Amino acid sequence: MTKKIIDLQPEVPFHTYTVAETESQLKTTAVEGLTSEEAEARLHLHGTNELKGDGGVKWQKILWRQIANPLVIVLLIANILSFATKQFPEGGVILFIIIMNATIGFYQDFSAEQTMEALRNMSSPTAQVIRNETRIVIPNNQVVPGDVMIFEDGDVIGADCRLFEVFNLETDEALLTGESLPAQKNLDLIKSVEQSLGDRLNMVFASTTVVKGRAKGIVTGTGMNTQIGKIATTLMNVDTNELTPLQKRLNKMAYCIMVAAIVLVIVVFAVHKFRYSNEIAIYAISVAISMIPQGLVAIVTLTMAFGVSRMARAKAIVRRLSSLESLGAVTNICSDKTGTLTQSKMVAVRMWFPGDGYYRISGTGFVPEGEIFRQGESINNEPHQDEKVTLSTGSDQLLRIIQASALCNMAELRRTNHPEAHGEWTAIGDPTEIALQVLAHKAGMPKPELVENGFELIAEFPFDSSVKRMSVLYRTSDEYLIFTKGATERILGCCSHYREGDTELPLNSEKNNSIQGDFTSVIMDKVDALAEQGLRVLSLSYRKFRPTPGVDLVHGLKRDEVESDLVFLGLVGIYDPPRAESLPAVMKCYEAGIRVHMLTGDHPSTAAAIAKEVAIIPADTDVKNSSMVMSADKFDALSDEEVDRLVELPRVVARCSPNTKVKMIAALHRRNLFAAMTGDGVNDSPSLKAANVGIAMGQSGSDVAKQAADIVLTDDNFATIVEAIAEGRRMFFNIQKFVQHLMSGNIATILVLVVALAIKDEQGDSVFPLSAAAILFMNLCYSSPPAIGLGLEPASETNMKKPPRTSKQGLFSFEVLMDMFVYGIAMAVLSFVPFVLVLFVLEDGQLGKKCNVGYNDLCDTVFRARATCYATLTFLILSHAINCRDIRNSGWQWSRLKTVYHNKTLWLSIVIGAMILFPVIYVPGVNKNVFKHMGISYEWGLVFAALAIYTAFVEMYKFVKRRTMA
Ligand code: ADP
Ligand code: MG
Repeated sequence: MTKKIIDLQPEVPFHTYTVAETESQLKTTAVEGLTSEEAEARLHLHGTNELKGDGGVKWQKILWRQIANPLVIVLLIANILSFATKQFPEGGVILFIIIMNATIGFYQDFSAEQTMEALRNMSSPTAQVIRNETRIVIPNNQVVPGDVMIFEDGDVIGADCRLFEVFNLETDEALLTGESLPAQKNLDLIKSVEQSLGDRLNMVFASTTVVKGRAKGIVTGTGMNTQIGKIATTLMNVDTNELTPLQKRLNKMAYCIMVAAIVLVIVVFAVHKFRYSNEIAIYAISVAISMIPQGLVAIVTLTMAFGVSRMARAKAIVRRLSSLESLGAVTNICSDKTGTLTQSKMVAVRMWFPGDGYYRISGTGFVPEGEIFRQGESINNEPHQDEKVTLSTGSDQLLRIIQASALCNMAELRRTNHPEAHGEWTAIGDPTEIALQVLAHKAGMPKPELVENGFELIAEFPFDSSVKRMSVLYRTSDEYLIFTKGATERILGCCSHYREGDTELPLNSEKNNSIQGDFTSVIMDKVDALAEQGLRVLSLSYRKFRPTPGVDLVHGLKRDEVESDLVFLGLVGIYDPPRAESLPAVMKCYEAGIRVHMLTGDHPSTAAAIAKEVAIIPADTDVKNSSMVMSADKFDALSDEEVDRLVELPRVVARCSPNTKVKMIAALHRRNLFAAMTGDGVNDSPSLKAANVGIAMGQSGSDVAKQAADIVLTDDNFATIVEAIAEGRRMFFNIQKFVQHLMSGNIATILVLVVALAIKDEQGDSVFPLSAAAILFMNLCYSSPPAIGLGLEPASETNMKKPPRTSKQGLFSFEVLMDMFVYGIAMAVLSFVPFVLVLFVLEDGQLGKKCNVGYNDLCDTVFRARATCYATLTFLILSHAINCRDIRNSGWQWSRLKTVYHNKTLWLSIVIGAMILFPVIYVPGVNKNVFKHMGISYEWGLVFAALAIYTAFVEMYKFVKRRTMA
């Protein structure tokens, strides 16, 4: 293929092309689509289907962020100060620190941004296209010109397309045309090339949404080569730039610390009676800087970014970063049943209809091979008593039922010819409808055959989970027929007759044939019998229709009129087995103190049967009398007060509508519970937004639901939600761990620096326990790297064995704050004592003169003491990272220590941190001139003694906590 063939000029007027012309222009066919090789080649040629110019990680911006921050500015001032006063060693160190700081910050920021960017792309919408003759779902950015695309209600259209098949299609094009009313699309050829966008009704445009109907089209333009690309606004930007509550809280904390730091600067000067000297100024600045946990926000972001990519690997795409924090606090999960807890591989296994009784259908999955057996009046008959029937031997009733199943149905079942698909059966559409389509195939009356024989679809009233039924109008050579199927309660209300054999009897007639007594209760008994086996029960009905002359049958029909006076045909029972992972995942939730609720549109008995299989309710629950299972009409009828008075909210809510879900979330919130809610439908957005964590289904979900959600599950699986919660908890605790580590280290440093101000030499200058360079260097090396390591800690064994934290309890629980100070003070004492011991006890107590400025003969004692203090504090802070691995239990248990391979970052940061200590203390020149300390010998005894005492202290402290704290 040469490059020129499909090189789209900015304006190829596809709206003036016929479908055939479009096909030949784009070298594709509407029926077969492109092959995957061809699509690959075109992707190469045209690039990905994305809007350029936005997104992308901009390194300049990130670099600027590293430089333009208050900390760096303070350092720069210190730097200028030290060079101006010719203190070159200090100046050099500070410069080095500025550069290192910016480099580390840049690296952290850049990798966080890159991860987020990758995810932004992942969470972009998907598109349904036909490739290799098979309908598949691909990421929207993989769509190429010439692809055949399929749209349904709630889809966001991913590319510009020339339509070749439409059904009631209406799209919202306000974004492009400003027109607020939906555009009704059709296939009419347009003559004028100049036609305005809003009137190019045979085309659809990228970024607009499908309000109604279905359609297929050939992609004419992708990426920047679309109408929206010309306007170049963002397609569907994921909200990952917004700060999460945690980040906001940390930012606030940073400001408080800033204020405290300024106070400290004043203290340092005050101790020196506001006498100015360059040493004092630089020391004061260093003290202030050591207080600020500058790496914190960056490390939090980095930790979250890693978390997000781990979750993506676990098939949960995070759309809003703040949901990561919420996840860990989830106390209740409200889940759909179909497709989430179950496999969504539906098979019609039973039928029932007046006169004939029950039928059994054999076969599995989509494969339309199986037989139909008549069971008679008892559902529990032994299979061998069943009598095999076919359409020709069966009753007239059977024929109608199969006809209704096939026609009131938008699913497609087909066998591919493409060699890659091995002639397998593939199915497209709603799983419920696929099941019915498979049934029609098994009976030997598939939809394509009926269509060939003259059944023509005129109008459709699509399924929607609030009405729970759908209707279609067909025309045959001599009559119009309406077929309606749906939840039995919603069908019976529309029926006036029922059919038995070839006669139609009024529902309330005196001389009932096979049905004695109240028709509704007889049917509902049958529904119950089927539903108790875990089957989803659908009722089928039909009627003949006489159109009123002059009424537009496509747009002018009222749903109420169509769905009335129907003739009830019978019931079909469809089985949808639970996923194998659902039961263990639900059990895991119980262990983790999380309640699971099932909110489903299905019948209470069906819902309860599946709920029992996955242990959402106990297997011996008496469904009829238990408050655990409730139907939505009952739940909806309760006032808020009545709901609040329930001892426990229902575990299973059946016959749910989207509003019931919102009501459930509100009820949970009034109980101060934290809820995750799943959703897939077009009208699930309100509940997804109301939930603390809204979770949309990646495969079966509509784009609208995905846009409203915080998290999208790419595998639609309930178990993935539980994994995401585990990840959310892990992340929260890890952030807690490193904040703890960072803050206690800072507290320790500050205390040492401030208390030591009291030790003054002959001239009345304080003897600084650490030089300015040492303070800054320590701050750089020993806080951020272990913190990143702690952020990567694997989940503890008890991660999902403890109840969720309460949502109000933020990062700084009482215990965390207490620990911070206890550890900080302990480390301060244990590094200050060696300093004093060396100064006054082990050495001669000679404090010398001007030892803050540089080395002279009188400074040996002070320099040795400093090196001791420096080494001790460094070892304490580094080893404290191990303590921080667990808030209550020892971090030094063998089971934790041996996980070196799981967290190399942590161990490397500790080992390298400890090793850097030696050149800093021993390399001549570096030690005396820059860090103002010198090599030590016997003092190492003090260092290790302090380390041992600290570790013992921490273990004791944790032991006491385990004994005394809840
Ligand atoms: P769920 O929450 O389990 O996905 P739905 O809202 O999809 O439930 O379905 C609720 C009920 O609506 C089903 O029990 C069935 O009776 C009916 N139903 C489901 N799908 C269709 C459909 N395509 N056409 C007609 N009725 C349907
Ligand atoms: Mg559904």
